[in-house]
Amino acid sequence: MLQPHQILPHFDGIARGIQLQKFGCTRTQLAKAARSGSIHRIRIGVYALPGIDRRVITAAEHGGALTCAAALRAHGVWILPDPDEEIHVWMGAAGRTHHEKCACVGHYTPGTAGLGLAPVAAALVHLYRCTDHETFFAAYESAWNRRLILASDRDRIRQELPVTAGWLLDLARGDAESGLESLLRLRLHLLGIRLDS
Ligand SMILES: [Zn+2]
Ligand SMILES: [Zn+2]
Repeated sequence: MLQPHQILPHFDGIARGIQLQKFGCTRTQLAKAARSGSIHRIRIGVYALPGIDRRVITAAEHGGALTCAAALRAHGVWILPDPDEEIHVWMGAAGRTHHEKCACVGHYTPGTAGLGLAPVAAALVHLYRCTDHETFFAAYESAWNRRLILASDRDRIRQELPVTAGWLLDLARGDAESGLESLLRLRLHLLGIRLDS
């Protein structure tokens, strides 16, 4: 029979007990695994593998999935260095905050946020709100280039971002080989607009 620590890797290392039970784990098994230390109980009904990213744990304690720069980097998206140490959490449309007082930044956008890492498309939508155009643009092109977002994801991102983000999305391409290439093209474009006007 599958043990909880064998199932958790399929959920970014963290999941609700109810999700694990769907794979045949009983509550007794979960309690036993938590006692033995092969998994950790994060809060009531939430379990994680030992050693997973502390920020993922904090986001789950807050009530959602880690998002923005930290999540994108964990997905393998190239992203400009970010001195921001805050934890950004995707709460879904109407998630409930479990922290009473904290420095987490909550994102309430459509969808059901699980725990672990927010999907790349959702994290890009959040990043747009939390950072500057350059950081977003380079991350968006990197995600596209690495096939981490498909055409359907790009449509969804366009729908969820403000109309004023349209020009950035129009400028983006899927063949940028590096973040620096993305940044250079964006800067030249901006320079071109200024020169033309
Ligand atoms: Zn919090
Ligand atoms: Zn954010």
